[in-house]
Amino acid sequence: MKLPAPLDRILQNALDRKAPSKEECVYLLTLPADSLEAGVLRSVGDTVSRRRFGNEAMLLGQIGTDTAPCPGNCKFCVFGEDHTQFERTQLTVEEIVGRAKAFSAGGDLYAIFLMTMHDFEWGGLLSAVEAVRREIPAHTQIVVNIGDFTVDQARELRASGVQGAYHVCRLREGVDTGLDPEARKETFRVIREAGLDFYYCCEPIGPEHSPQELVEQMFLGIEHGCFQHAAMRRVWVPQLPVAERGQITELRLAQVVAVVSLATLGCPETQNIAVHEPNLVGLTAGANVVYAETGANPRDTEADTARNRGLDMEAARKMLYEAGFSALRLGDGKTVSLDLEYLQDTNRCHLD
Ligand code: SF4
Repeated sequence: MKLPAPLDRILQNALDRKAPSKEECVYLLTLPADSLEAGVLRSVGDTVSRRRFGNEAMLLGQIGTDTAPCPGNCKFCVFGEDHTQFERTQLTVEEIVGRAKAFSAGGDLYAIFLMTMHDFEWGGLLSAVEAVRREIPAHTQIVVNIGDFTVDQARELRASGVQGAYHVCRLREGVDTGLDPEARKETFRVIREAGLDFYYCCEPIGPEHSPQELVEQMFLGIEHGCFQHAAMRRVWVPQLPVAERGQITELRLAQVVAVVSLATLGCPETQNIAVHEPNLVGLTAGANVVYAETGANPRDTEADTARNRGLDMEAARKMLYEAGFSALRLGDGKTVSLDLEYLQDTNRCHLD
């Protein structure tokens, strides 16, 4: 087998821990997803990532705490105020704590994510953080996925027990959303300045996004020192304004994951890579993280995604096992072995 010379050089460099340039990443994303060349790219993305992260994976759990017609008005989200069918709802602090305890009951959860709409009630969020912090194991972190916030608020979050924040300047932010891309990027700086871990993602990817667009958006996370990078496809929901643009395959998503795996070699802060929604193709192309989900979900028409698209913790853990990861990393840096015996003990489920 002989690979095209540019591909061979880029992949060999990656195996030697040298990150591709932006131009090289654009080239990697022009490869047809079903080609031999893309297959080799996914394989190298996988190898680079497993070597880098010691074949350890991470389990995360996200709780969407509320639903509302959202002024973010993203055309790819079921809560955008111009097209949503959702009413305003809010989980109580007790309900949030109950779901956090259920997610962390296995003792192997790296972090609980609390996700709100773009606008949210500050005092309510802090109360939820403090209540969850009291009730979950010390080795499980808390991460927020909320609208833009100031550095003083970031410090207050940190003081109340938050260790990271997910924040993204999405593909076509300001065009497919009603939000200001510069405000989103300012929050990246706030997150880093306050000493929180910065969780980023190349999202929400659709068939219309060019390799250049994907790379420019992907590198924002790298340039701002993201702790977690990721790739997420836009999910096709018929009532969304972008529905006619369609949806990419998991195979194409895995190609983006592989490019993230290679590109983040140039970002020493990156300690893990996620794929949304969880799938085995992405987990064998460079991703080592999946999220279980409950409550509100921008990609789901069910008010509680646990009843529809959201993976539960048992299924997420089993998927990481099936992808061949040998350990789960906890929020305090310790690990637990991920083997068949462990899976049987924690899942108490059939392994078929
Ligand atoms: S993606 Fe977030 S900001 Fe955009 S409409 Fe949905 S909830 Fe609001």
